Amino acid sequence: MSRLDSAIRRLQAQRACLNAAAEAVADRPGVVFELGLGNGRTYDHLRESCAGREIFVFERQVAAHPDCVPDDAHLYLGDVLETLPQAAERFAGQVALLHADIGTGDAARNARLAGAIQPFLPHLLVPGGIAVTDQEMPWPDAEQVALPDGVAPGRYFLYRRV
Ligand code: SAM
Repeated sequence: MSRLDSAIRRLQAQRACLNAAAEAVADRPGVVFELGLGNGRTYDHLRESCAGREIFVFERQVAAHPDCVPDDAHLYLGDVLETLPQAAERFAGQVALLHADIGTGDAARNARLAGAIQPFLPHLLVPGGIAVTDQEMPWPDAEQVALPDGVAPGRYFLYRRV
């Protein structure tokens, strides 16, 4: 598979997983957390698929398209390892959908970051809330949600708080 094919599949998988999660939590109250703004693509998509919900973004350095930058009240600027614990106090049990897309090509770094973020997921999510992650982040009683058709195992992960 070419790198172009791989990039296209990754983005299609990301969109399919975000759409599936947005649909699955449609009847749940709660806000959305976006960990990793990047250029704002998935943030912009979540604004459509989760219309009506507040979206809080976690990013250490904003470099997104100007149309895709949240206002200050919805931006946690800084290292997510510092900002997520702060937000966890404010939003305990109030997050309907959390998307984490902060992986890089450094597998060891990804594993460390995933391990640090994972304990916050069950604490933040509403019952029935879903975490959509680019790294494995299971917690002990997380329900692993089946991936949408066409998404290869290991490409993305969906976890539901029971
Ligand atoms: N989902 C985004 C999109 O569709 O445009 C792409 C996200 S990009 C792959 C990852 C982002 O996570 C980068 O903007 C990077 O700055 C941010 N990031 C990585 N590690 C971080 C950390 N420890 N704290 C805060 N942000 C981080």
